[in-house]
Amino acid sequence: MAEKLKLISLGGLNEIGKNMYVYEYGEDIIVVDCGIGFPDDDMYGVDAVIPDITYLVKNKHRIRGIILTHGHEDHIGAMPFVMDEIDAPVYCTALTAALVNIKLQERGNADKVKINVVKAGDTVKISPSFKVEFIHVNHSIPDAVALAIRTPVGIVIHTGDYKIDTTPIDGGMIDLARFGELGKKGVLALVSDSTNVENPGFSLSESVVAQNFENQFKDCKERIIVTTFSSNVHRLQQVINCAKKYDRKVAVTGRSMENVLRVAKELGYIDIPNGVLVDIAQTKSLPRDKVAIITTGSQGETMSALHRMAFGEHKQVDIVAGDKIIISASAIPGNENSISSVINELFRKGATVVYERSASLHASGHACRGELKLMLALIKPKFFIPVHGEYRHLKIHAELAKHMGILPKNVVISDLGKVVEMTGRSIKINGTVQAGRVFVDGTGVGDVGSVVLRDRKHLAQDGMLVVVVSLSGEDGSMISGPDIITRGFVYVKEAEELIGELKDITATVVFDCQYKHMHDWTTVKAIIKAKLSDYLYKKTRRSPMILPVIMEI
Ligand SMILES: [Zn+2]
Ligand SMILES: [Zn+2]
Repeated sequence: MAEKLKLISLGGLNEIGKNMYVYEYGEDIIVVDCGIGFPDDDMYGVDAVIPDITYLVKNKHRIRGIILTHGHEDHIGAMPFVMDEIDAPVYCTALTAALVNIKLQERGNADKVKINVVKAGDTVKISPSFKVEFIHVNHSIPDAVALAIRTPVGIVIHTGDYKIDTTPIDGGMIDLARFGELGKKGVLALVSDSTNVENPGFSLSESVVAQNFENQFKDCKERIIVTTFSSNVHRLQQVINCAKKYDRKVAVTGRSMENVLRVAKELGYIDIPNGVLVDIAQTKSLPRDKVAIITTGSQGETMSALHRMAFGEHKQVDIVAGDKIIISASAIPGNENSISSVINELFRKGATVVYERSASLHASGHACRGELKLMLALIKPKFFIPVHGEYRHLKIHAELAKHMGILPKNVVISDLGKVVEMTGRSIKINGTVQAGRVFVDGTGVGDVGSVVLRDRKHLAQDGMLVVVVSLSGEDGSMISGPDIITRGFVYVKEAEELIGELKDITATVVFDCQYKHMHDWTTVKAIIKAKLSDYLYKKTRRSPMILPVIMEI
């Protein structure tokens, strides 16, 4: 029986983030993208979420290559962690390679990873079963590519993140002609970005954004501070162009912004005229209408430079009345609250904040419905698999494809870990592999699991109470205590009476156990915990975490 082509998503389905798609044919595996996800609000202390790669680790001898479509966090962010576990050559364009390298160096595994730099238009034979062609697309970072993956059962087009921008700032328009040619030849499957499927029409062009930026700079007599996603090199270029035109110096603050600017400049993705860039410390001595500052923090992140400015904690920049702050980014779902707290703080300091959608100071990097339809029309795939979206995005995109004439039985909405099997004639879901989320906290990967998270959630919601007693090892009599320590539960000084009652209950339990000659401390602790928990719930309707500690003396 002929082999089947398999597509397994380890991330990127029913979520926006941690993209990772595994293609498999016979003994060969290639992995497309290796991204990070952002933790939910209730994942206390979790810095990032990466895909569960158990399946890849088990099959690591079969992995022939890792292919990255572009340098966004949700496509490359898990690389440093994943490359600790697996070993395969990486293929990506130059800017993506430079951004991955920064991450690998931070984690100290840059030396062992072999990155092959490719350009749009290149075709690379990765293994006997997989030949990958890189196709230029427009997106909110330069050097993004779609993939045409040639397999023994047919061509799969994996779009990666894309939009169609007929007037981009730099790098040229998406190579629609190539998609059309492949469509004419016959494409087996289209695996497509679904992020903006809910938005009708076409996405805004970067050139329109450029014009609006210029209007903000024209006649402005105050200091201008712009925040955007640090990877949005085209937007950085626009700020630099406007600054040059209106005779301002540009300073950059925020580590990720400085990193991106440095590599983009080195690789020629950004053009900075001599004399425009100054150190952030120099801006203080320049007239206010001669300064433009580019900063991180468009998502209101607590550690970012804009957040520190807003709350008066930035070493070099104090926000003063009159400052014009341009937020050139849309909120990633979940970040709305932190962004509005930063905006409120900026207003409080008398700054003007330009963030309205109507000002059109930001263009999304993802195709809207009109563009998605155009892509479907050009490629005319036999099978269609929507990816890079929450469930509703996938569903709406699937309906769109059916509406465009793709047979309903050939449209598949998959889920994390599900195996989509394709032959030249049919497509179906057949089986599952392990998939899910692994939490990163600090430098630890996977050591924080659901039990630890449940504890953190419990502690955050109800606080904790530790009760300490010293008991005699001989007869179980109480030698000292009980002492009660609380954190995040009640303020002890104001709750002396309650604490007193808790001590009494504990002492009663201990006497009772002693009377019954109960020397099994685990049981004694369980009884203390149960009695205190009951009492506290009745009295306060709260359930703090209770930790009884018995010291045997
Ligand atoms: Zn992207
Ligand atoms: Zn993405």
